[in-house]
Amino acid sequence: MLQPITYTLRFPAPATHYVEVEAVVPTDGRDHIELTLAAWTPGSYLIREYARHLECVEARSTAGERRRVEKTRKNRWRLECGGVEALVVRYRVYGRELTVRTNFISEEFALLNGAPTFLTRADAPARPHDVRIEMPDCWRESVTQMPAAGAGPHHYRAADYDALVDAPIVLGNPALYAFESAGCQHVLANVGENGVWDGPRSARDLAAIVREQIAFWGGAPYERYVFLNLITEATGGLEHLASTVLMTSRWKSRTRKGYLEWLGLASHELFHAWNVKRLRPVELGPFDYEAENHTRGLWVAEGITTYYGDLVVHRAGLSTRGEYLDQLSGEIQELQAAPGRFVQSLEDASFDAWIKHYRPDENSPNTAVSYYTKGAVVAFLLDIEVQRASEGARTLDDVMRTAYARYAGDRGYTGSQFRALVSEVAGADLAPWISRAVDSTGELDYGPALEWLGLRFRVDPPSPDQPQKGWLGAVTRNDAGRLLVTQVRRDTPAAAAGLNVDDEIVAVDEHRVRPDGWDGRMEAYRPGDRATILVARRERLTRLEATLGAEPRAAWRLEPLHTATEQQRARLARWLTADAVFGG
Ligand SMILES: [Zn+2]
Repeated sequence: MLQPITYTLRFPAPATHYVEVEAVVPTDGRDHIELTLAAWTPGSYLIREYARHLECVEARSTAGERRRVEKTRKNRWRLECGGVEALVVRYRVYGRELTVRTNFISEEFALLNGAPTFLTRADAPARPHDVRIEMPDCWRESVTQMPAAGAGPHHYRAADYDALVDAPIVLGNPALYAFESAGCQHVLANVGENGVWDGPRSARDLAAIVREQIAFWGGAPYERYVFLNLITEATGGLEHLASTVLMTSRWKSRTRKGYLEWLGLASHELFHAWNVKRLRPVELGPFDYEAENHTRGLWVAEGITTYYGDLVVHRAGLSTRGEYLDQLSGEIQELQAAPGRFVQSLEDASFDAWIKHYRPDENSPNTAVSYYTKGAVVAFLLDIEVQRASEGARTLDDVMRTAYARYAGDRGYTGSQFRALVSEVAGADLAPWISRAVDSTGELDYGPALEWLGLRFRVDPPSPDQPQKGWLGAVTRNDAGRLLVTQVRRDTPAAAAGLNVDDEIVAVDEHRVRPDGWDGRMEAYRPGDRATILVARRERLTRLEATLGAEPRAAWRLEPLHTATEQQRARLARWLTADAVFGG
């Protein structure tokens, strides 16, 4: 075994958001070694240039003699060894970006991710990486999935660099909840409960989700799993080998909808412990941490995971049937409202995650689909398609379990292997169906799935007392008292009138309109009315002629048919409970 790299982390002044790193790096007898810092974090597909937060790299022999350090690339340093067995490398890292993939250091708590924190040997990362934390007085706990190195508290060992990057660390004074499921330990670390978040309830409900997922897959792929739940008013979630970082508003625990969203997020990230961390597209490993790693497989890795995230919450008994159908309807509504669904296919959305999904701008809804949203909707339709093709004998659950048995681990699956496996499990050729849903920009057909389950999209008749008002279709915001256009969707009256993003709407038909008065003003107009919109564009007044339209009514709300047959009711119940699906 190669000698480990051993890091010591110090926090002399956490309020300044710095961690000081001292790394003892074996030289393996080389004249020079090169150190690298990752440019991105797996699971979050964007080059983030973590090296911009790294300062003052210096190297010495263990006796304290300075060694030459030369920067060779944006994220690499070449170190002269001078005949020693190990170099002591010191640097510091600034962390004040509160996201699931970056570092955040404060007096209250710290989140350390591996990719932005640890320099490693560019040529030999397959060695143990030890982490020793010198805890400042303000923190009691360090929590991570990394196993203890056995030499006192706050000392951990990652088997290699990949494991180090896959094991974020939370430092501070979190509330800790432990529970066992299928013989495996689970820990929920809540940072920032502050008397608002109901810790015991969240741990109880997570335990139900864990049980449901372990039953789904037929076993747990880890011995210990850690939920790092940062209740910090930030948002996001990121999956790791045997842990996840979740970020949430503390008030989400106080509303039913918000709490279900948090449960869905936790369920989604846990599902990744199987789907993507172990059963992965072949392109997603071994990682190149310095460049983009393109894959067309995120519709499986993220879309199918998004589908099961909420579905498993329902199957675990934590949401009602109506609540689950509303969540699924929300995904369908979001997809069907995005003009970009006619521009970008699901596979292309996956491939371009690095330049599109993670770099959204004001035109994104016109030009892109989310592989989360369309992926989840396609997963739902594919699930029902598998059930239809197999006459109720198989489901997407069976596809995922078979895929896991066949491709999990170092092997990975290619796109065509996954597609072939779907047809194999369904017992019918679903390749044309998948190709249309995943490779093309054609509209999805909901009819067969709704027919199979006895569902329909509810259409509310227009209210006779409330005549339809005018609709421009621009997305606006109140910018310190100015009504500012933030998005112009394709095929809306706003687009036809030539409204631009960043236009300030000043008046309609020569009458001043203020940000809080827009909706009221549109009540004075009817679809089909013409109106002159006065805008300030780059500080110059411009008049635009608009023909107002009618706001498209949401027609994507799923509900069971009153006239559903016994067979349809039984299929619906079995889909939602994951009991064995019956024939016919
Ligand atoms: Zn995900």
